[in-house]
Amino acid sequence: MAIVQQVEMLRAQMEKAMTDRTLPRSAVTLLAASKGQDAGSIEEAIRVGITDFGENRVQEAQDKWPSLKEKYPHIKLHLIGPLQSNKARQAVALFDSIQTVDRASLANALIDAMGKEGKTIPCLIQVNSGKEPQKAGVIPEEADALIMHCRAIGLPVEGLMCIPPVGQPPAPHFAYMRLIAERHGLAQLSMGMSDDFETAIRMGSTCVRLGRALFGERA
Ligand SMILES: *Cc1c(COP(=O)(O)O)cnc(C)c1O
Repeated sequence: MAIVQQVEMLRAQMEKAMTDRTLPRSAVTLLAASKGQDAGSIEEAIRVGITDFGENRVQEAQDKWPSLKEKYPHIKLHLIGPLQSNKARQAVALFDSIQTVDRASLANALIDAMGKEGKTIPCLIQVNSGKEPQKAGVIPEEADALIMHCRAIGLPVEGLMCIPPVGQPPAPHFAYMRLIAERHGLAQLSMGMSDDFETAIRMGSTCVRLGRALFGERA
């Protein structure tokens, strides 16, 4: 299917999920997860109105995005993959938000990098809601302390991000994220991917990260 039809269908599904939810209505961003996609596919998505893109690796984003950002200055680029502290400055320079803050040392490195770059960008805390050893993210028990640390040092934390375990119903994870967010007055919830974005929207997501549903299966 052409990407224009794909986006139309996804927007309709998102709209339907939004009307299903009992929560107050809030905008939901369709973020295109563009890892592995070349500039051609990304430009196709931009032409049909996608404004937000997520990349997983700083290096891949540095190879692909500087020229795209120059050509399409309205686009917002989000880091959705793990970040090493020694790449914090490069990440702050290139991205418009970081969704994967998961430890105090990284929060400190980001504050330092924002100072040096003279640029402040919003951050989300990634929570490893399933406590999976191979997955990034702060474990739920430590999320409160990390959020408070970020606030104490002045990092602009706007919300939470999670990737529920494969093969488990995602709804309890999404509900738990919302609980933590409400406890701290955090407005943004980046949750929901190709297989579970409608559930995520019904449960309060403000940003769904779609890869396969938008671009097709990854090679
Ligand atoms: C790849 C990726 C996505 C998109 O996954 P799909 O299942 O292809 O929609 C979302 N979030 C993160 C962090 C990813 O790495």
